[in-house]
Amino acid sequence: MKKIHKILIANRGEITVRIIRTCREMGIKTVAVFSEVDRNAPHVLLADEAYCIGAAAPAESYLNINKIIEVAQKSGAEAIHPGYGFLAENAGFATAVSEAGLIFIGPNPDTIALMGSKTESRKAMIAANVPVVPGTKDALASPEDARKAVDAINGYPVLIKAAAGGGGKGMRIVKNAGELERAFLAAKNEALKSFGDDTVYIEKYIEAPKHIEIQIIADQHGNACHLLERECSIQRRHQKIIEECPSSVISPETREKMGAVAVQAAHACGYVNAGTVEFLYDTDGSFYFLEMNTRLQVEHPVTEEVLGLDLVRLQIMIAKGQALPFTQAEIQPEGVSIECRINAEDVFNNFVPSTGKIAHMRLPAGPGIRVDSGVRSHSEISPFYDSMVAKLVVWAPNRETALARMKRALLEYEIIGIDTTIPFCLAALDHPAFHDGSFTTQFVDLYWAKLLDEMPDETTLAEIAAISIVLHEEELSEKLPDDGSQNGKPAEVLSPWKLQQYRALRSR
Ligand code: ADP
Repeated sequence: MKKIHKILIANRGEITVRIIRTCREMGIKTVAVFSEVDRNAPHVLLADEAYCIGAAAPAESYLNINKIIEVAQKSGAEAIHPGYGFLAENAGFATAVSEAGLIFIGPNPDTIALMGSKTESRKAMIAANVPVVPGTKDALASPEDARKAVDAINGYPVLIKAAAGGGGKGMRIVKNAGELERAFLAAKNEALKSFGDDTVYIEKYIEAPKHIEIQIIADQHGNACHLLERECSIQRRHQKIIEECPSSVISPETREKMGAVAVQAAHACGYVNAGTVEFLYDTDGSFYFLEMNTRLQVEHPVTEEVLGLDLVRLQIMIAKGQALPFTQAEIQPEGVSIECRINAEDVFNNFVPSTGKIAHMRLPAGPGIRVDSGVRSHSEISPFYDSMVAKLVVWAPNRETALARMKRALLEYEIIGIDTTIPFCLAALDHPAFHDGSFTTQFVDLYWAKLLDEMPDETTLAEIAAISIVLHEEELSEKLPDDGSQNGKPAEVLSPWKLQQYRALRSR
């Protein structure tokens, strides 16, 4: 068994804070790294030690492999946790970490490389009898190849995807033959620009699927378990925004089947540590492997809440060489957990990132609430990094209470100075399709524009506008009293939902 006394976290933001918390509970010292603009960020202040590793641009700091390893060695850390994003799925980084005599808290580099290629992972899954979305196994060289591939899967619609894809980039939906050549070239171009690799392939486009993923965990001794599913169908730009565990529509039999397939996938690639097998779940109940994420997932807290587990603790135990402390039969879920991603985005303007300073922030609290946040009042949301600033997670004994609790918490969330996804989340949770569980990945396209049209009337909005203007003039960051009230108006009147509704209407 290896010993770990000190861990360097090669990341920033909420996930670094999250990892530091578990390390502290385990008596492990932590080392943070930061870019010049993150000098006063919560992850830096919370760590036992912190080192500046370069300029704001990720290539000069959070992606600088040599620098990060140098800091790990200098500080005496025995292990590196990559978090998610940045270097988390970079096989070269995992290799460099091991070659430097350090422990990489994650799977081995070969698994990361295999799963990093959508085409290679599809081949591996087909070989392991895991159902994949119908499509091509190999890269498509020309529009002519693409045409043949479409014929082979019985026609349109199809999705052109980048083999090296991630973050929803490099994907093009093609509805008919006339669109194929242009979409093929555009996807190739975007893939080259985003990933330095223009390999693309084709999948059948499943029109209204659910995105259901299975958390898996595997130790170095050949034991692997699945830790239930997460429902992640509420997405914009192919990126998740609300997640839930368990799914309200997956039956115990399907859960068992999908879980078994995910474990099969893990064994097939010699998986070690925490990972996620993503599936598309079609209306007829069939499901298809989409990809495997070889890291801790953003939405891991909903799994933790329902299973009473700490996935980061398990990751560290596994990296040390310990065996899984439970068997599949011992995994017993309790209650329901929902996560809303609080992103700095303008939901009324196509979810574009919203940068700037957080003038005022007060987090929700009370029964069943967990906030994993990487910012505080006066933090600057930088255009250099992703737009997620926090995750609001609730747990309750049943789904109805979880929904009510999440709504209550979203309304308690005070954040002024940037636009956030809170208004969208509130509206989504209120939607009948969310309540009955019938929502799919098409939720935003189908319902959001309509919801925008159902905003309050002009009088209410004018009232809100007046308050909003007073607040801005008085520099609310300094003036807001602790209870969040202003000029005798209750805090509820200042809710970001209403302020943002006003702004949206005014800008039309
Ligand atoms: P990325 O790695 O860029 O996140 P994924 O392959 O995980 O890409 O897909 C992201 C999302 O795109 C999925 O959750 C789903 O909403 C949509 N998607 C991907 N492939 C398909 C497909 N074949 N049919 C329909 N939707 C898809």
